[in-house]
Amino acid sequence: MRIARYVAYGGEPRYGIVELPEDAGDHPDTVATISGDPLAGPVNYTGERYALDDVRLVSPVIPRSKVVAIGKNYAAHAAEFNSTVPAEPLVFLKPNTSVIGPGEPIVYPPETSDLHFEGELAIVIGRICRRVPAERAAEVIFGYTVANDVTCRDLQAKDRQWSRAKGYDSFCPLGPWITTHLSPDDAGDLHLTTTLNGEPRQDSETSLMVYPIPRLIEFITSFTTLLPGDVILTGTPNGVGPMLPGDSVSVSIDGLGTLTNPVVAED
Ligand code: MG
Repeated sequence: MRIARYVAYGGEPRYGIVELPEDAGDHPDTVATISGDPLAGPVNYTGERYALDDVRLVSPVIPRSKVVAIGKNYAAHAAEFNSTVPAEPLVFLKPNTSVIGPGEPIVYPPETSDLHFEGELAIVIGRICRRVPAERAAEVIFGYTVANDVTCRDLQAKDRQWSRAKGYDSFCPLGPWITTHLSPDDAGDLHLTTTLNGEPRQDSETSLMVYPIPRLIEFITSFTTLLPGDVILTGTPNGVGPMLPGDSVSVSIDGLGTLTNPVVAED
């Protein structure tokens, strides 16, 4: 199942089930409205249905408390910064105010001159949980989406920690929707690409993660409680690079969709 949040005709954001041509059914490329919040409990179809082209998708989830992100989780990305993979997962936090949806602008701050894209697989948590063993990770995962861990590379080096460099408003695009029907093994074996203005930049596989999804859940919940709607960014492969105002960046993961955002200068 694919769950989107969308705005139709200027109304409030609603949740809906995305129906694509590859699904069996009579309603290709549509979104069928559901009542309530699917992260909070059972939902029902309301009977409303829109063409995807007629609605504006927004972030499929607004993390209730936090975005937990993983650094250097692909050896080839660590190597492009003359680094090596850490002996255990390297964790940092992005504020939930950094989250934006598909099509919303990434705002280029005046404090940087080296703003990078980082295409990543994102995990959406479905249950409150702590100290989850790796073999039970699937029980706490609601689904998966596509993320861009936007980073001021110069501020990351200058500050020597990453809160500002990765925490600006708009630095966590998520979308286009949450895909719920994959196991951790399925999600850990997907093709990921990033393009800048249509030009290929990143081309990798989530199977190349150093610490796979179950191990990340186990490690993160060893020290913090995860809440429904919290998001985990699983790290970026090699090929990261700079963006400028006027650019358009797209991250695609097979089976999960494409997340596209423009880059704009701050007013
Ligand atoms: Mg990253």
